[in-house]
Amino acid sequence: MTVLEVQGLVAGYDRIEALHGVDLTVARGEAVTLIGSNGAGKTTLLKSVAGLIRPWRGTVTWEGRDVTSRAAERRSRDGLVLVPEGRRVFAGLSVADNLRLGGYHRSRAERAETSAEVYDLFPKLSERRHQQAGTLSGGEQQLLAIGRALMARPSVVLLDEPSLGLAPKAVAEVTEVLCELVRRGSTLVLVEQNAHAAFKVAQRGYLLDRGRVVLSGPVDELRTDARVRAAYLGET
Ligand code: ATP
Repeated sequence: MTVLEVQGLVAGYDRIEALHGVDLTVARGEAVTLIGSNGAGKTTLLKSVAGLIRPWRGTVTWEGRDVTSRAAERRSRDGLVLVPEGRRVFAGLSVADNLRLGGYHRSRAERAETSAEVYDLFPKLSERRHQQAGTLSGGEQQLLAIGRALMARPSVVLLDEPSLGLAPKAVAEVTEVLCELVRRGSTLVLVEQNAHAAFKVAQRGYLLDRGRVVLSGPVDELRTDARVRAAYLGET
């Protein structure tokens, strides 16, 4: 069943058009990756889905409803949640308080239940629950940013370059956590420049190039496509 559908999306900044009519479909329980080089439009697409950019044309349908003009804050509260690039945890607050903020609109009991699940998924965060978020490593902060998104009990999680700037070990850890979320039934849309990491997590992918989808399909097909191999897997 389709949970998220983007149709004919055109979006940009000032007068510069960055997306020229993008279509995207995500089924419930599926992990989809958006790959492409710098400036291909991946972040613009994710922000349009999250409501941080108002598209010029086209529609975003989520859970069967047209949410194209729904405010970003409401989308996030309703369960269409973005984990932005650069992590952006509240550095001065503890791990526990960061999680609490992710579930601010839920009841105390729901928050307690969900944070127990998040700590179960991320034992490292559990050990550090009273530590200030700013003192965590980059990889741990990324886990916290993901954990905070999960506190909203999202139906779709949008992730913008979760592996960006992380050490290889942390990339592997974040990738493993995303795989576990998929095993537990989460629906993910993952933007990555690291195609190796993206292909481990996702079942299906879209290759963007200069604001257009130039290729889409199961990751096994993308992996063997000459354009993907040349551009993103470091092969010629
Ligand atoms: P990256 O991997 O570098 O984040 P991306 O695929 O996410 O790349 P976008 O950030 O969506 O690409 O950028 C798409 C196009 O929109 C690019 O040409 C970029 O220069 C332009 N763009 C992005 N953000 C802005 C902005 N705030 N103002 C003006 N132009 C922007």
